[in-house]
Amino acid sequence: MIPIQLGSLIFLFVAFGITVVCLLWFWTYIRERRRETHRRRVAVQCRMCSAAYQRDSKDKRSVTVCPVCQTPNERPRLRPI
Ligand SMILES: [Zn+2]
Repeated sequence: MIPIQLGSLIFLFVAFGITVVCLLWFWTYIRERRRETHRRRVAVQCRMCSAAYQRDSKDKRSVTVCPVCQTPNERPRLRPI
C-alpha cells in the first residue's frame, strides 16, 4: 500500500474533480457548436411569410420551396458563429 497524507489525498480528489468538470464543459461546448452548425446548415426561414422550415441536408439545390406559401427561398449562407 502506498502511504499518502490526508492533504495530498484531498488535493488529488479536488484536482480530479476539476479535471472532470473541465472535460465535461469542453465536450458540451464542442457538441453544442456542432449542433448549431448543423441547425444553421439545414434551417431556412422564408423571406415572405417568415416560416422556418428544415431543408433536406442531402439536397444540394440552392433554392428550396416554402411549404407554407410555396415561395422559392435561396439557401442561407453559413455565417461563422
Ligand atoms: Zn413562406
